[in-house]
Amino acid sequence: MAGKTLIDCHVHLAALPDDNNGCYISPKMLRSPLFRFLLWKHQLSPSNPRDANRKYLDDLLTELHASRHVQKAVILGMDGVYDQNGRLNQAETDFLISNDYVLKTARAYPNEFLAGVSINPQRRDAVEEVHRCADAGAALVKVLPNAQQFDPADTSYRAFYRTLAERKLPFLSHVGYEFSLIGKDQSLGDPDRLRLALDEGATVIAAHACSYGLMLFEKFSPTFHTFARNYHNFYADISALTLPNRFRMLLHLRQHPEVHERLLFGTDYPLSVLHFAAWGRVGFGTLSTMIRTKNRFDRQVEVCNGLKLGFGSLGDLLVHSTAKTTP
Ligand SMILES: [Zn+2]
Repeated sequence: MAGKTLIDCHVHLAALPDDNNGCYISPKMLRSPLFRFLLWKHQLSPSNPRDANRKYLDDLLTELHASRHVQKAVILGMDGVYDQNGRLNQAETDFLISNDYVLKTARAYPNEFLAGVSINPQRRDAVEEVHRCADAGAALVKVLPNAQQFDPADTSYRAFYRTLAERKLPFLSHVGYEFSLIGKDQSLGDPDRLRLALDEGATVIAAHACSYGLMLFEKFSPTFHTFARNYHNFYADISALTLPNRFRMLLHLRQHPEVHERLLFGTDYPLSVLHFAAWGRVGFGTLSTMIRTKNRFDRQVEVCNGLKLGFGSLGDLLVHSTAKTTP
């Protein structure tokens, strides 16, 4: 992979609510170990949201600018939970990163960021929100069905998927177990539920290459191969695949070069990128390069290259879909 041309399609935007960013975090989430770890790692103070949000962005920009391979990041929003009538259910929502905050941040850094808005198809204005975000320049739509408590296979979302197809907005969906969601319906993370979106013609990107995320066995890998065979509009990102709960999928996929053209680069920033999947599987020189590479974007490239896991970039998809915007 030559030059600084890659797009990372899976970077989390984190933000504490301030008076006008439209974000929300529940008291339960504020107390959770995961959230406290994030605050500690980035030395963020929850009592001063504006400074904390600024610092999170500055840290991300610094690491991105320092990367030798990655040019741009898709910063992801996080929609909430919606009730039967399509109204926001704040009591069930753990956190919400608003599309306005995502779009505004991406607009402020056009050379670094692309907007990965989040739209729960259960919201009553889901189709209008797709149009609004597409008009505002969004690059993709991200969802996390287990957290957002919707079933991607629900046929009442057909119009939503058709609108995504029509506006050429890829649909990036979390797949597998989600650790931050104890007690929620984890079966909503089954990638087979993405078939409806594929049938309606939307470009689907399954996050974490369909890995299950529980270390046991990769129960979704048959689905991955079936989709790759049957749908030209199916892709998967390689984010988080170096983590202990997902690296079996990395080791599986490196044996299947025929599907590498379906893989898109991503990290799952701010999560760590680890090198131990490569131990004993690459030469010492390659391993020591991975260990020396502290930049998470570059380490993800080094580990995947070292293990011969081929991948493309979201940019390759956007070239086809955004041709209309280039004069
Ligand atoms: Zn993620």
